[in-house]
Amino acid sequence: MRFASSGRLHAAFDFGDLRVVSLRDGYIDMPPSRLRDVHGCALAELPHAVPLVGGNLRLSVNAFFITDGTRSLLVDTGASDNWHDPTMGLIYEALDEAGIDRGQITDAAITHEHPDHVSGLIMPDGSEAFGKLERVWIGAGDAEVFTGRLAPVAGRVVAFQEEVAINDWATAVPTPGHTPGHTVYDIRSSAGHLLIWGDTVHVPTLQFGRPEVSWELDGDQSQARAARAGLLDRLARPDHFVAGAHLDSPGIARVTTSGEGYALKYLAPPIG
Ligand SMILES: [Zn+2]
Repeated sequence: MRFASSGRLHAAFDFGDLRVVSLRDGYIDMPPSRLRDVHGCALAELPHAVPLVGGNLRLSVNAFFITDGTRSLLVDTGASDNWHDPTMGLIYEALDEAGIDRGQITDAAITHEHPDHVSGLIMPDGSEAFGKLERVWIGAGDAEVFTGRLAPVAGRVVAFQEEVAINDWATAVPTPGHTPGHTVYDIRSSAGHLLIWGDTVHVPTLQFGRPEVSWELDGDQSQARAARAGLLDRLARPDHFVAGAHLDSPGIARVTTSGEGYALKYLAPPIG
C-alpha cells in the first residue's frame, strides 16, 4: 500500500493493481462517556493521549472507493444531511475533488445501518447520489434500514447472511456486534489485504492500545469486543492494512502488536 496523493477531502493510494481512495465525509463530536470498560461502565479516566475538542471526542467519518480501472466499489457513503449537526455530507465534494464520477458507481457496500455510513445514498434534495447504482450490499441483520428517505434504493439491496464475494477482489465478511449486520470488506490485491471496517474502532488513540474498551452504542458489547480482537489479530499479520470509517482521515494504516495491545501507523499525512 503506497500513498500517492491527497487533497483537502481525499487521499489516494496504490494497492498493487488496485487504486484505493479515502473520502472524508466530515466528523462527529461525541462525549467521552460513550467509551465503556469491560463491565459496561464509562471510563473513570481518559489517557492524556486522547485529544478532546470542547470536551468531546472528534471522530473522523470516512468512506472508501476502490477500483481496478474497470470495476469499482464504494464502501460506505457518509451521512448526507441526515445528522443533527451539519458536520458531515462532504462525500460528494470529496468524490469531485478526487476526480471520481459518482454517476458511474454501480456498487455500494455498507458496513452497517447507521446514518453516518448509509445515508449518503440519498442527497439532501432527496435524489439518488449514484445514478447508475445497481447493488447495495449490506449484512442481512441491518437490511431493514431501507425505508423512509432510503426507500428509493430498497429494490437494489443485496442482503447477505454469510461471507460473500462481491467481485474478484472484494469479499463481505460479517462481523456482528456493533450492529447485527456489521460487515468488514476484505479487499485483496497483489500487495495483500485491506480490511475496511465501519464501527470496529471509534477512538484510535485509545482502542488500539486498549482493544477491550468498547463503545456505548455497540449493540452487543461483548460480541463487538470479540470481533475487534479477531480483526486486530488478523491485521497484525504481514501484508495486511486497515481502512477505518472512524480512524483519523484519511484513515488507512498498518497495525502492529505493541505490549498487551496494538499500535497503528498511518500511511498518509492527515487531511480535513
Ligand atoms: Zn459510525
